[in-house]
Amino acid sequence: MIKVGITGGIGSGKSTVCKEWEKLGAVVFYADDVARELMVSEPALRQKLTDAFGPKTYKADGSLNKAHLIEEAFKKGRVQELNAIVHPEVGRAFQKKSEEVADEGKNLIVKEAALLLNKGRPYDLDVVVIVLSESKNRINRVVQRDGVTREEVQTRIEKQPDFDQLLHLADYTIVNNGSLDQLKIKASELYQKVIPSD
Ligand code: ATP
Repeated sequence: MIKVGITGGIGSGKSTVCKEWEKLGAVVFYADDVARELMVSEPALRQKLTDAFGPKTYKADGSLNKAHLIEEAFKKGRVQELNAIVHPEVGRAFQKKSEEVADEGKNLIVKEAALLLNKGRPYDLDVVVIVLSESKNRINRVVQRDGVTREEVQTRIEKQPDFDQLLHLADYTIVNNGSLDQLKIKASELYQKVIPSD
């Protein structure tokens, strides 16, 4: 079985690529969604986060206090600390999911994550894909999708890596500056290239 990582900046189109691949039969592990789930459902992780960021990390009803965590991690410069706590759990969950998918006889799993190449190329992935798109397109798309301001998207872009500088870590690049249909065609063509032919 091969493990494929798909990454790219905010609004680049990586989820759209993954959705196309799902239609073609791929199992996709959305790392950011899994991280959010584990932060609520995993007792050991809850404890570590509470130890690091204080008892306000969770609300009385047990849900994650996002405003507190954003304040502590993003505004006080502790994002790396947050990632160091959460990412190993996500890595374990991906490993577990990969084993389940392999046991089902499937030959490909995809990990979609914005933070995939921050420590270089991950040792547990066979193929890495970067989705690239010009920032003006990304800003327009995210403003439309999330109803946020252009400035907010710009700030988020500035906090992410410049994926143009990480192309040496990727096996394939999808450039998404055309239409949505063109992106879907590119996604489907790449899927045919990477899917093992057995
Ligand atoms: P994020 O990191 O914010 O989750 P993403 O990289 O996963 O973003 P998508 O969610 O795939 O990006 O795309 C962002 C938005 O832009 C979506 O609403 C998607 O439908 C739209 N979109 C993506 N590519 C195009 C395109 N080429 N033309 C028009 N809209 C697009």
